[in-house]
Amino acid sequence: MRVKRRRLRVDRIVIVLVLFIGLIYLIKFGIYTIKNYRIYNSAKNSSTIYVSDDKLNIWNKTIDYLKENKQKISINYKGDSVTIDTKDLKNGMNVKLDGYNKTIDEPLFNEVDSYYIKSNDILNLSSRLEISLPSYLSKYDIVDVYKVKKNKITLHRASVDVVDGTASFNVEKDTDYFITYIDVKSIKSSSITLDQGKEEKIKVQYNPSNATNLGLTYKVENEKIAKVTGGRVKALSPGETTVTIKSKSSGVTKDIKITINKVEEVVKEDTKKVENTGRKTSKGYDIVEKDGITYIDNLMIVNKTYSLPSTYNPGGLTDEFNNAFEEMRAAAALDGIELFVASGFRDYEYQVDLYNKYVNIDGPELADTYSARPGHSEHQTGLTADINSADESFEGTAEAIWLDKNCYKYGFIVRYPKGKDQYTGYEYEPWHLRYVGKEKAKKLYESGLSMEEYYGFTSEYID
Ligand SMILES: [Zn+2]
Repeated sequence: MRVKRRRLRVDRIVIVLVLFIGLIYLIKFGIYTIKNYRIYNSAKNSSTIYVSDDKLNIWNKTIDYLKENKQKISINYKGDSVTIDTKDLKNGMNVKLDGYNKTIDEPLFNEVDSYYIKSNDILNLSSRLEISLPSYLSKYDIVDVYKVKKNKITLHRASVDVVDGTASFNVEKDTDYFITYIDVKSIKSSSITLDQGKEEKIKVQYNPSNATNLGLTYKVENEKIAKVTGGRVKALSPGETTVTIKSKSSGVTKDIKITINKVEEVVKEDTKKVENTGRKTSKGYDIVEKDGITYIDNLMIVNKTYSLPSTYNPGGLTDEFNNAFEEMRAAAALDGIELFVASGFRDYEYQVDLYNKYVNIDGPELADTYSARPGHSEHQTGLTADINSADESFEGTAEAIWLDKNCYKYGFIVRYPKGKDQYTGYEYEPWHLRYVGKEKAKKLYESGLSMEEYYGFTSEYID
């Protein structure tokens, strides 16, 4: 009996050992397998690899493999296809369908400037993940986060701020994440002709259109002729000059010509359009305008109708915001709720970059539904912040429910409440809080109305 039992134990040890070795093997090759799953599956049976446009995620390791095995890659793009010879494959390359006069902008991510996080590595699955980025990524202001689920890579969160080398974003169960940046490769823009005294926004297109780090600098050759602030060119005196547009991250430049026409009599115009029917709102509140800023009931008003001047810059979140937030944060902590500012003050220039980015991705019509035009973002007031996560998945979390019920006690309102988009101009944003002071916050909260309804003013872009 004893001998028999011992034998069984030895068998068990062997089984455990085999499983253990198998596990190590899986861990070692797990990532590699996930990344190259599609390519390898097709590689087994063919010397030509077909990749359709939604699967253009060809990793350097795959490219190395294809080169080593002298295989060709065929790319199918909207019904057209092109075959690329092995010798023409380069790591990190973009694919051009020259013969068809089409360019595929989707980047071929490479592992040198990207960072992969396996779901197994996410030990404590809270609603958000704070990740310290490796040095090649932490130097960027903005990164994009992709999620990898069932071998499919989709954009998870665009333009995540990098603060002190750390990116913070929401995570889902059983999902891998992939952090990268996409450099601006070139800038497109065209010449501008203006009458003296006029102003125009410089329109910029980025290549690739999904590039991150869209910050630009502008240098004017002759500042007596034109000036550029916040991406807008101002015509000062007649003549011609050149503006050099430069990408802050990649350094690529584009020169455009500015021509200013002489105007005999410059008619002085009210720069600010009359945006409301009278000087009172439909609910009888006075509309007060001071230095280009609108106030109703002593509240600074910023929405799609009312904007801030490009020069308005409190330099960060105001003291009254910070003090009130600290009081709320401490109270929430007692209820086991952790609150933090995910995105606070944004200056005019930041919004220029952000809005342009979204216009490039989705076009102006769709972009207007979720991103404010420059000057129209409440974040420029220094009285507004996105709490914890500006992401749809924030809705229904314990933090969101707590804020909805309690934030008014500390002087805040959920600025874009649910089902009020026809008044506010924005879909529900449970994370976007505006400081209005305790008294007004209570009034607004108890009314169940949005700020626009309560005071009776509009939120619509004029053009
Ligand atoms: Zn916001």
